[in-house]
Amino acid sequence: MNSVAKSWLCTSCRRKATSPLATRVSRYSTSTRHDRPFRMAIVGSGPAGFYTAYRVMSKIPKTKVDMFEALPVPYGLVRFGVAPDHPEVKNCQDKFEEVASSPDFTFIGNVSIGNAGAHFDACTIPLASMMRHYDAIVFAYGASEDKRLGIPGESELKGIYSAREFVGWYNGLPEYADLAPDLTNGDEAVIIGQGNVALDVARMLLENVDVLRKSDITEAAIETLLKSRVKRVHIVGRRGPMQAAFTIKEVRELMKLRDVGFHDIDMSLIPDEISKLPRARRRLMDIMVKGSATRIDEAAKSWSLDFCLSPLEFLGRSGGGIESTVFERTSLASPFDPSSSVTGTAEKLTIPSSVAFRSIGYKSVALPGFDEVGISFNDRKGVIENDGLGRVSRIKSDESNTQHQESHLPGVYCAGWVKRGPTGVIASTMEDAFSTGDAIASDWNSGAPFLQAENNSGWDALRAGVERGKCRVIQWEDWRKIDKAERERGLLVGKEREKFTSTTEMLIAAGS
Ligand code: FAD
Ligand code: NAP
Repeated sequence: MNSVAKSWLCTSCRRKATSPLATRVSRYSTSTRHDRPFRMAIVGSGPAGFYTAYRVMSKIPKTKVDMFEALPVPYGLVRFGVAPDHPEVKNCQDKFEEVASSPDFTFIGNVSIGNAGAHFDACTIPLASMMRHYDAIVFAYGASEDKRLGIPGESELKGIYSAREFVGWYNGLPEYADLAPDLTNGDEAVIIGQGNVALDVARMLLENVDVLRKSDITEAAIETLLKSRVKRVHIVGRRGPMQAAFTIKEVRELMKLRDVGFHDIDMSLIPDEISKLPRARRRLMDIMVKGSATRIDEAAKSWSLDFCLSPLEFLGRSGGGIESTVFERTSLASPFDPSSSVTGTAEKLTIPSSVAFRSIGYKSVALPGFDEVGISFNDRKGVIENDGLGRVSRIKSDESNTQHQESHLPGVYCAGWVKRGPTGVIASTMEDAFSTGDAIASDWNSGAPFLQAENNSGWDALRAGVERGKCRVIQWEDWRKIDKAERERGLLVGKEREKFTSTTEMLIAAGS
């Protein structure tokens, strides 16, 4: 626990929850509710947090939102995930700026709830302390880890990166500012997983650096990509083209890269009658069968979609770096069924790999303090247990001390990737956040129980504890200063922005 958290506990948490906070809930009559503000805390400032705030503020009059963000800057994966050459996707930030401009909205950046993990330098507020000051809390903290393959060589060998690290690095996420991926060991790269994140990683390796240079990719990434020797990218899936997770626009974009060729797809995995497939699947198959305009023998770089290969182990060369990846061929139970399973065939294939990326999905983890307040987290699925509409389930122990999930934990909600799992684009995250917002509004208006706010003063009650820990809190005006400084830096190098890649630089730009 950091010093801020400790200083916090010494003051407001003397009555540290002896019974689960879950049991301390309040019922107000609907008329009482309408006389007072509805005080809501949101943990996380990505799309799920902002869209939930927007929905609730538009449905419950007098809503006051305090949004807590572990980093000094907002927007989650819109800033640190979305590829730099997709600036149009970031337009949702205009909506978020509009939400944040409301006098009923407070951004509290550089403050993590529970604990955002060792990689965040943020000040921490213990969950139980915070919950005392709100009617409701919404967990929208996304997925701060990634899934692992669990195969030999994965942890020991140099040159194997998770897509989350690599994406974070080229997007300026402070946690990975020092990643320094080595792309100079040889010309073949392997990416394991066939989702859209894998395609983003491939594009960064294959795209002309002069095109990327104009985006908000970091200058450090540009320098590394300029030195890259990678010429051949394998994007490897354990299933087939009919089961691939990537989507039309993203695969088409790769096919269109200048001077980049696509190796022919294994046609035995493509249905004979593509025209009879549902529209989206048909278009996807058409694009893969048609391939790229650039012929392989004329291409400067090339890529392939390698299907039905499940990773077995990474092999190293002297010096500790990766040399190749060994796969087992798989067999699809029903090759043209999009939900088909696969089984191993025991046949092995080795692909030379001077660098490898694991792109098999992100993972959410429980926040410290969940047990104390009775929140049920499903470690296997990596989600907060909820009713599908974002109402968080309560853990309860019976007489034999066996834990059960019970119905809704009053006043506690979740939204986005931590509610649904780490899949979905911004539009689906918005729909998901709206469903949580609607559940909150419906519960509030029907007189359902919420958290028992001791004094209903939210951030005003918490601020003193945080400031005693000498923590620099970033409010929306501070973020605007950081934003302005990044844009000015960008102007100097001919791009929209040059991001700060350390929290220290961010705090200095905010005027600390
Ligand atoms: P996030 O966006 O991850 O936001 C969570 C926030 O919570 C973060 O800011 C985090 O710092 C903060 N946080 C974490 N822990 C704490 C804590 N303890 N206390 C306080 N704050 C905390 N979708 C598209 O539509 N188009 C795209 O081009 C696209 N590209 C993508 C590229 C990548 C690499 C990835 C991974 C996803 C992409 N997506 C894209 C999907 C999109 O980014 C997600 O749907 C969306 O960001 C999920 O929103 P979220 O709010 O649940 O999580
Ligand atoms: P994803 O879409 O779930 O894809 C994960 C991939 O990893 C799948 O191919 C999956 O194969 C594979 N995989 C999982 N476990 C594996 C294992 N143990 N061994 C081998 N392969 C394994 O996840 P993602 O690519 O991280 O993307 C997350 C979300 O962000 C998606 O909804 C995506 O669309 C979105 N996103 C969108 C954009 C965009 O719109 N441009 C860009 C990036 C991300 P199986 O199917 O066989 O499990």
